[in-house]
Amino acid sequence: MYQGKVDLHLHLDGSLSEQVVFDLAKRGGFPMSMEEICHSIYVPDDCNDLVEYLQRFELPTRVLQTEYALEVSAYELVSRLADQGLICAEIRFAPQLHTRAGLTQREVLQSVLNGVKQAQQDHPSIRAGVLLCALIGSSWEVNEQIVPLAAEFMGQGVVGIDLAGAEGTVPLESYAPIFEEAHRQQIPFTLHAGERGDPENVRKAVELGARRVGHGCGAIRSEACMELLRREKILVEACVVSNLHTKIVLDPKAHPMAEFFRRGIPVSINTDNMTCSNTTLQREHQVVYDAFGFSDEEFRQMDAYAIGGAFLPEAEKQALLARL
Ligand SMILES: [Zn+2]
Repeated sequence: MYQGKVDLHLHLDGSLSEQVVFDLAKRGGFPMSMEEICHSIYVPDDCNDLVEYLQRFELPTRVLQTEYALEVSAYELVSRLADQGLICAEIRFAPQLHTRAGLTQREVLQSVLNGVKQAQQDHPSIRAGVLLCALIGSSWEVNEQIVPLAAEFMGQGVVGIDLAGAEGTVPLESYAPIFEEAHRQQIPFTLHAGERGDPENVRKAVELGARRVGHGCGAIRSEACMELLRREKILVEACVVSNLHTKIVLDPKAHPMAEFFRRGIPVSINTDNMTCSNTTLQREHQVVYDAFGFSDEEFRQMDAYAIGGAFLPEAEKQALLARL
């Protein structure tokens, strides 16, 4: 079966290996058994919804509060992706979640970038970028630091920004000024939108200038929204296993990603949270293959869509496309 090579939607804190969490907890002065760790970071099969899913981030967030922890985690993740055969990845995280022990958002970001940079030097086969997330529910003062921070580090590892968190608890338009400012500064962004099935949020995300949407499932409920995604060539970052865990879809066959693809909407396959969802890009491909039976050529097309939507200079995209 086709081996996926691009993952544009994965969260650093949801993708730490158990071993990294184990080591960091010990180092942080609260040693835990591997069993306790697995219980805390893996979503149970009977997970009820997105809120319960998001609880899986408590322990990873707790350990990711030092420069060492952030650098090691980023290094390990990018190295693991390279070992799995990925040639391009964008890793996202919210710097504001890692300031509990006194680090500034800037220090947090620098630590992650150090880890990513080192991993790329050791694994030149992968091109990894970093996306900074504003968070639904966080204070305005904290969220508005995202754009200047991204602007400072664009071209030095940061490739864009995102809006993450429990979609729908605060209206998307409340965050419009942040993304309007990003748009003005030519910082590309993708937004978590339509994850819980609301096509309006997908429309609003595109209107704000998002070049990609995370999940985007809700688009299937609106013909106008489907047409908008197709016409504007907005990449939908599908995360099928994650959507199964959060009960957005109850059966892989019911996932809208195949219909997006069939209608000519660019769609790519992503993991969202490798640890939390106990998944890999390969597993995502297997689940999608079992549900829809895509050919290798079709899977390759999805990787090509992903590279097309990656926040990279055109020349780098062409070089990556040649490697598919
Ligand atoms: Zn996500």
